[in-house]
Amino acid sequence: MKVFFDLVGCRVNEAEIESMSAETLALRHEIAPSAEIADWIVINTCTVTREAERDSRQKIRQAHNRNGAARIVATGCWATMEPVRAAGLPGVTRVVLNAEKEGLMRAILGGEAPTAVVPGASPIPARRRTRAYIKIQDGCDNACTYCVTRLARGNLHSRTMEAILADILAAQRSGAKEAVLAGVHLGAWGRDLGNGLVLEDLLEDILSRTAIPRLRLSSLEPWDLHPDFFRLWHDGRLCPHLHLPLQSGCGSTLRRMNRRTSPEEYADIVEAARAQIPDLAVTTDFMVGFPGEDESEFRESIGFVERMRFARLHIFHFSPRAGTAAAEMESQVAPEDMRHRAMWARHIGGQAADSFSRAFLGREMDVLWEADTRGGLRRGLTGNFLRVRVQSEDIRPNTLSRVKLLSIDRGELVGEVKS
Ligand code: SF4
Repeated sequence: MKVFFDLVGCRVNEAEIESMSAETLALRHEIAPSAEIADWIVINTCTVTREAERDSRQKIRQAHNRNGAARIVATGCWATMEPVRAAGLPGVTRVVLNAEKEGLMRAILGGEAPTAVVPGASPIPARRRTRAYIKIQDGCDNACTYCVTRLARGNLHSRTMEAILADILAAQRSGAKEAVLAGVHLGAWGRDLGNGLVLEDLLEDILSRTAIPRLRLSSLEPWDLHPDFFRLWHDGRLCPHLHLPLQSGCGSTLRRMNRRTSPEEYADIVEAARAQIPDLAVTTDFMVGFPGEDESEFRESIGFVERMRFARLHIFHFSPRAGTAAAEMESQVAPEDMRHRAMWARHIGGQAADSFSRAFLGREMDVLWEADTRGGLRRGLTGNFLRVRVQSEDIRPNTLSRVKLLSIDRGELVGEVKS
């Protein structure tokens, strides 16, 4: 059988698609490079915003239009929250809820659970073997009032340390140069395992028992961190990049969001991280238009963002999600005001990202090259998430090079390879 995979959404969805595709190979079936030639099409959906939900439905419709004979599996967060609607879309023959995802490939392809699967076998072009997305936990026990993810993914459940290590060693053997640890609430890893292990223990184990050249953490909630955590970055393989969702820089808004942090606590943890991790990039998620956010709350929020000097700001419009407390809150913000605030945030975020990149001009940094190359232009990422391009026919994808950073062009650093 040939299986085509596609997704909308987060790194957890990417990690799941990687392990489903690796399982497909282990079950001795094929990954279809396009929907047109597939027998099965698996789409991992998302519902974090109205746009993500719409994109998920669109992906399913497009897959059916491209291949009306293929059987489509709708899985992921949108399909879990709206299984009846998902089942009603053209071509969908199965809806698999998040809780049933583990056995999805065997359910459609048959066969026994394979002994070993090799992450990093990403079916999605341009990431083949450069970095492997490794899911370490799922679900979340927090209760942010806008969040539908926790409703779609359920309570915290961590994978075991041995299972995660096996995935990283398999990815390392398959040539991946970077492992990205993904989860819905990464910082809570281990709390449900009952053996006292926490995220630090897992990171120490990965760094001591594998030779993966780079280890990157995806999103971390600030309240899970304490200054001592950052001593782990003495190991240069841990990427100096922390993605710490802020959502708002205003204390009152954060309280209505039921976020377990305050602007002051957030600033303290960022300061502690910057003091211990050289060249650290702090990136974040920032929401505009949360119910009740008036002009003065927004000014307080964006003022805080400006002071934090983020390396990258991912901006979201508040999107009322069915089943969440925030969707029922009064004082919903007008779309026009949201657009205006997002524009302001993009301006502030753009300035901060530019000055973060400029701080590295003239420096030499290690860059991991990605697969896609156009016109001899090779692109890649530094450990601290700076996007770099060089003109070179010789550089191979998925290799690390030392690069001198010379200039900035349209938000991208331009460099020359030193070694
Ligand atoms: S920490 Fe909050 S935003 Fe993140 S998954 Fe949990 S409930 Fe959702």
